Amino acid sequence: MSEPLSATRPVTPTRSSVRTFTVAAVSHPSPGFARVTLRSTGDGFEDEFEHLGYDHWFRLFLPAPDGSLDLPFGPSQGWYSRLLAIEEHRRPVVRNYTIRAARWVGDAWELDVDLVIHRDQTGQVTGVAARWALETQPGDTVGLLDQGRIFNMDDHSGPVLVVADESGLPGVEGIARSRSGEPGDYVLEVPDSADRRHHIDARPVWMVRDHTERVGQRTLDHLRATTIDPAASVYIVGEASFVLGARAIVTAAGVPKDRVQFCSYWRTGRRADRQ
Ligand SMILES: Cc1cc2nc3c(=O)[nH]c(=O)nc-3n(C[C@H](O)[C@H](O)[C@H](O)COP(=O)(O)OP(=O)(O)OC[C@H]3O[C@@H](n4cnc5c(N)ncnc54)[C@H](O)[C@@H]3O)c2cc1C
Repeated sequence: MSEPLSATRPVTPTRSSVRTFTVAAVSHPSPGFARVTLRSTGDGFEDEFEHLGYDHWFRLFLPAPDGSLDLPFGPSQGWYSRLLAIEEHRRPVVRNYTIRAARWVGDAWELDVDLVIHRDQTGQVTGVAARWALETQPGDTVGLLDQGRIFNMDDHSGPVLVVADESGLPGVEGIARSRSGEPGDYVLEVPDSADRRHHIDARPVWMVRDHTERVGQRTLDHLRATTIDPAASVYIVGEASFVLGARAIVTAAGVPKDRVQFCSYWRTGRRADRQ
């Protein structure tokens, strides 16, 4: 039996449906990221959304290759069957993203989303969502389905260890903000020193990898050389092999498996819809 790719105790929204959003702004906070601000459109999201903070995430529906956007409207339950019922060539592309920041502006929610612009060895941007983030413009339309948060240490008072690669950074920012200065060890890996986020007040240990290194390798070496408190609760997100490797290290150090929340956000060499 293959290893599970995640183990979490999610906090899910009480109500959530597929909703339409428009792109309100696009910026580039650092070399590895595009920041897209999505604005709700008055179709019901405003009445049902409660920002849960931490690593609150959602499913993002992007236009099909022919440019159409046929959304599987309706409640969260059954969204995937409704998606599959859409003709293949008009089916939207679905990817998972985190709300980096949420604010109420005028009569709508605005959500900032930071998308990693990932590239292959030749420098070519790979991935539908990464390409969309580079090309999208204010006024474009997408779909969104609220999923709630993964980070859940509500019943834990011991030390906390947070480990992530760059895809987890938007969530880690939210976690650090929601924990508002509570102590914790954060080990975060990025591909470029300019992608570090200096306003994360948790004072992370930053791992800046070399372009010849595998994602997570440097962080795994660091974790192996670190004394990990077996009383800790641990949160790990990022590339699948990295996440499973980090989980193996912390459990070998004595952290019980049920105190390790982990989620494989992406897998080297695999599109998210082919996992
Ligand atoms: C709960 C959750 C929250 C997430 N939040 C965020 C977020 O806030 N920001 C964010 O950027 N990502 C986030 N991710 C990860 C994101 O969903 C994946 O990286 C997704 O595969 C990107 O889609 P894509 O269309 O760009 O690439 P895909 O079409 O899925 O993949 C194309 C190729 O790119 C590679 N690839 C995919 N992602 C990466 C990456 N990050 N780095 C390097 N290579 C990659 C794949 O291995 C594949 O070879 C989250 C994932 C989960 C499960």
